[in-house]
Amino acid sequence: MIFGFGKKKQQEEDDHDEELELISFQGPVSGPPPNLNENPGLVRAGLIPAKEIVSDAVSRDASMLRLDPKGAGYIGMMMVDGMKYPGPRLQKQQGTAITQILKMMAGLSIQERKKPQRGSIKADYEGQPYDIAIDITPTPEGERLNIYIANLKTRPNKPEEIGISETLKEKIREMAATREGYIGVCGGSRSGLTTSTVGVVRSVDAYVYGVYKVFDTGTWDIPYVTDFEREEGHDLETTVTRAQRAEADVIYVPPITSEEEAKVIIERASKSVIIGEFPAKDAVSGLLQLNKWVGNQELLASNLKAIITSKLIRKLCPSCKQAYAPNPKLLAKIGLSKETKALYRHRVQPQELQKGETWDSCPKCQDVGYQGQVAMFELLEMTEGMQEVVRSKLTPDAIRTQMKKDDALTLQKDGLRLVAEGITSLEELQRTFKS
Ligand SMILES: [Zn+2]
Repeated sequence: MIFGFGKKKQQEEDDHDEELELISFQGPVSGPPPNLNENPGLVRAGLIPAKEIVSDAVSRDASMLRLDPKGAGYIGMMMVDGMKYPGPRLQKQQGTAITQILKMMAGLSIQERKKPQRGSIKADYEGQPYDIAIDITPTPEGERLNIYIANLKTRPNKPEEIGISETLKEKIREMAATREGYIGVCGGSRSGLTTSTVGVVRSVDAYVYGVYKVFDTGTWDIPYVTDFEREEGHDLETTVTRAQRAEADVIYVPPITSEEEAKVIIERASKSVIIGEFPAKDAVSGLLQLNKWVGNQELLASNLKAIITSKLIRKLCPSCKQAYAPNPKLLAKIGLSKETKALYRHRVQPQELQKGETWDSCPKCQDVGYQGQVAMFELLEMTEGMQEVVRSKLTPDAIRTQMKKDDALTLQKDGLRLVAEGITSLEELQRTFKS
């Protein structure tokens, strides 16, 4: 197998392979364990190579690994902290065996090769629990395999770990205190949408309010939130209504997937706070989308409380980040306080070392300069002004103008907070908004 990865030297690559411990697969997250004895040939051909490529990705802190059938083989791609890196290149036979064995381990059908399938494997790597999600998409050349990797122990879970500031948390609490309205969470692809939504739910004070969730959140364990059983044959509306009769103050609902569900949620939001995610790339398009689904401006203006959007940004490596004194002109230009004494940036290796100078690589980030990600947030609130916009002239420009008037929290402002706190760099903030 050939692994291409950033600028690493071949020697380091070899060392990496030697030390590699293999992941152990413990069966599908839901459903019965696979019967390996039924397919001894497939197990022989695919199990060890599958463990090797997944272990390699896990050991590099990848959040995603893709194997794409192309011509005579498979082309791999990895995502680490939101950045793309080349992955393994495999021969057709091996790539197919790996795909099939991972489908089997996730409880998917290995006979089915023409339809999308999705499942998850429980796994253990170096004593840590992992969720390995297997996502299959048929392409003209075979099946594309996307593997999503989550370390269940280190995955951010508390609002502050996810990136929710004290100010935003306070806002969410104020909204929950009104005991009504829909708080919709949206974001672009790979924006960590579910993580952000969990953070919003956890920002509500669950000691004070009855917070219920009415769907299976898989491996997400949300403390102090009551699991409200959805009864056999009950649709979303019946379930939410039952939860409201059971005196839920706040209900965490499944992601909206249709106009029907959007209507139910906005209508029921007059009886309690409802929090959930919905597909839209940002707050502006989110409001337009909800309006299109609901088709009733008056209802939307009164029952929508807020739209929260998130976007991920890389965090500076805490071991090697460097402080510098920012130029006062720069601070004024980007809107940071002139009292800001230090900002941080990632350490860059000089092109040529001066005489007597040495360079020690950072063992924590291998000189990438960044490690891990955190979310920036945007908050579109249904202020009186925004209600007027919904009722009269709902255009992207009108929404943006109103957000300015409301002095809304924007992704840029929240990103600058992270820069001021030394969590990320100005360079990274610029890169995030360029891409
Ligand atoms: Zn470092």
